[in-house]
Amino acid sequence: MNFIDSHCHLQREEFTEDLPSVIERMRDNKVKALVDSGGLYDHSTVLKICEAYSDKLFPVLGIDPFTASQPTYNQEKEFDWLEENAPKAIAIGEIGLDRHYFKDELTWKKQEETLEKQLELAEKLDKCVFLHTRDAEERVLEILSSYNCRRVLHCFFVPKLVEKAIDADCVISVPTLKSKDKKKTIELTPIDKLLCETDSPFLSPFQGRNEPSFVIEAFKEVSVLKKEDLSVVAETINANITRVLGVEL
Ligand SMILES: [Zn+2]
Repeated sequence: MNFIDSHCHLQREEFTEDLPSVIERMRDNKVKALVDSGGLYDHSTVLKICEAYSDKLFPVLGIDPFTASQPTYNQEKEFDWLEENAPKAIAIGEIGLDRHYFKDELTWKKQEETLEKQLELAEKLDKCVFLHTRDAEERVLEILSSYNCRRVLHCFFVPKLVEKAIDADCVISVPTLKSKDKKKTIELTPIDKLLCETDSPFLSPFQGRNEPSFVIEAFKEVSVLKKEDLSVVAETINANITRVLGVEL
């Protein structure tokens, strides 16, 4: 059985001390992971670790809404780099909107501009996008309706929007974090539209730091809720990720 963590941040400083042992545990547990960047500050670290462990880690490059919201954000510089390097990425991400941490409309405008330019880029390169949608889920779905690229809603657990998201041709990636809304989201989402992720180092199902091997907790939960064997769930989700990326990992 092989498992894929569809979203994590192993480039972060939480992993600089012991990345080799984190990867070793991924080998033991047969886990692979997509590693998402957020901007010029961490793209090169993502590329570096994905090259060092190219059988386990796959780079997803993008300008995230946090970067787009900084007063020092230099859109031109960010896009120059991304347009040149995006072909090295297996997908574009993480990109999207965040209205949880950012409340003013001027910042929202910047986030939306950055998102739309990257959706155009993904279309041009025929790549999938991984979307952050916190407290802006409906707005992201609205924006997506003008674009054709394949799309994943990362860390998504809003039961009342599942139907709308599926109608918008989205694949839903559920996190390892324990939550009632997540349970409901898994129940409402057809299994061929589901992915599992850790968002490491965040959202651990246990105490402390999360890591890609813990993605198995999310797979187990899907297995229980969908009343399917863990091996069937793993196979189905692998097929989902192959379909959405357009390549097999
Ligand atoms: Zn993330």
